[in-house]
Amino acid sequence: MALLITDECINCDVCEPACPNEAISEGEDIYVIDPDLCTECVGHFDEPQCVVICPVDCIPNDPNHVESDSDLLAKYKRITGQ
Ligand code: SF4
Ligand code: SF4
Repeated sequence: MALLITDECINCDVCEPACPNEAISEGEDIYVIDPDLCTECVGHFDEPQCVVICPVDCIPNDPNHVESDSDLLAKYKRITGQ
């Protein structure tokens, strides 16, 4: 399941460099996650790094992008060319 940044985001910018897939970028009003690049950190880390680092806890699961662990691992392999 990809993750989603809610409008509680305070644009602090700490999550963007923490993402191993470069899935996070500055959107028009708040930071946004590209669901095609977010693997929930599967393949890189045990926990979603953006969730760990976000000071306002505004990054829940994205109900519109439900994926299994094997889906996420396949996405990781596609992104990294493995
Ligand atoms: S869960 Fe991991 S891959 Fe997804 S946006 Fe957060 S840091 Fe990036
Ligand atoms: S860490 Fe949280 S508050 Fe900061 S930019 Fe990312 S989503 Fe927004």
